[in-house]
Amino acid sequence: MMRGGGAGAAFRVHSRPVFLPKGVVKRIEQLCMKFFWKGNDENARGARVSWDFICSPKSEGGLGVRDLQSWNKACLVQLAMRLLNGESSMWVVWVRAYVPKVPWQKLVWFSLHIPKYSIILWMTILNHLPTLDRLRNMGLNVDTRCILCADGYETRNHLFAECAYSQQVWKSILNICVMNRRMLDWDGEVKKKLAGLVPPGATTVPAGDASKAKKADEKVDYMNLPCPIPYEEIQREALMSLKPETFEGLRFDFTKGLNQKFSLSHSVTMGPTEIPSQSAETIKVPTAHYEFGANFFDPNLMLIGRVLTDGRVNARVKWDLTDNLTVKANAQLTNEPHMSHGMFNFDYKGKDFRSQFQMGNGALFGASYFQSVTPHLSLGGEVFWAGQHRKSGIGYAARYETDKMVATGQVASTGMVALSYVQKVSEKVSLASDFMYNYMSRDVSASVGYDYILRQCRLRGKIDSNGCTTAFLEERLNMGLNFILSAEVDHCKKDHKFGFGLTVG
Ligand SMILES: [Zn+2]
Repeated sequence: MMRGGGAGAAFRVHSRPVFLPKGVVKRIEQLCMKFFWKGNDENARGARVSWDFICSPKSEGGLGVRDLQSWNKACLVQLAMRLLNGESSMWVVWVRAYVPKVPWQKLVWFSLHIPKYSIILWMTILNHLPTLDRLRNMGLNVDTRCILCADGYETRNHLFAECAYSQQVWKSILNICVMNRRMLDWDGEVKKKLAGLVPPGATTVPAGDASKAKKADEKVDYMNLPCPIPYEEIQREALMSLKPETFEGLRFDFTKGLNQKFSLSHSVTMGPTEIPSQSAETIKVPTAHYEFGANFFDPNLMLIGRVLTDGRVNARVKWDLTDNLTVKANAQLTNEPHMSHGMFNFDYKGKDFRSQFQMGNGALFGASYFQSVTPHLSLGGEVFWAGQHRKSGIGYAARYETDKMVATGQVASTGMVALSYVQKVSEKVSLASDFMYNYMSRDVSASVGYDYILRQCRLRGKIDSNGCTTAFLEERLNMGLNFILSAEVDHCKKDHKFGFGLTVG
């Protein structure tokens, strides 16, 4: 009877209804439960979630494991079900309308989920992990101080969100994902993830609750607006698609981590380099460079140094003095006269605003301020003064962002008008377009681009109104081994650039 691989399969093989005595069903279920928690048929004491709940469908918060008792009953009602089956049957309509669904189903059981992590997340969401507060509630005499910071009271919310240590980990992860925000508290973070998951109008909560939730959303909490992104990164999503770093020739990058914080990098580039000329035709000379780099990454301090064989030296420092204040320094030194430059930035990150003060060589001073005015809209401005060239300017910027799109606009007294729009078609695909106009030089350009993030590769590219087409492909060949293909064709200048490279590490 069990030869089909499992109890459910046995029933499926023998589609003819089979009824088992209640006692037998109960015994089989006990064995299944023991196997689920312990991996063998030993006693399953300390099971953290009831078997009934595990057997409820994923949409209702369970694991959707076939429960035998129901299967047994199902065989009885099989005939009745056949009569009632079908999308339009009253039975189906009733189930859809009245059986409560959990909104976080997709958060745990998305396609490509890793079962082990999903199970842990599932238990965390249900708050059934054996955290110290729960063990204490069960009557165990345990020290309830958090195992990570040895300070807070260890609850699920503390362990995964509030703990100082976890906050540091989240900060690094969010930084790597280029998400400029703080980890919220547990409930806030789950709510935020759910808001990103549920497309408007397709909520899984019953209609009554949905309209209530919507009304709560409409009430904007102006005291708790999100922090905007840095002023200099206003267009970052558009730049991803529209300005990939194309190159010509051959490139090989090798990075070796010496320990968790310190790494060395070696880069070799070979290929033609454009040299500036008066004529319309581009003149290229073959060049080859070797670049040596050293990097130090710490959650609060980042040091990057580069030395090139042509004598250029680059250095960058980013140091988080406090949670709010960051100092950045950037220097480039060359052999050529007047081409070296250095710059200091002081960034202050407030609750719902960011400000920056800049100073560089050649008496360059700049300041910018960017403020969230609604949960989606941020507005700001900048001023700069270049003492050496006796030039000054002022600019304004706006950025509107939702889960599906980002629109930005910038104007500056230098005559520049820039607009950009990015549509996030799905988690993996985004489309971008931008428009640039210079009032002084009457230059106009527009471009459209795309960004596909697939499992093994990322493809970006654009076409612009000057007849220039670019494509940039990064393909993951293996862990830590990437292949890069870069192509740029400029129809107007009758110029083309092809490059390929490898990055290791
Ligand atoms: Zn802690």
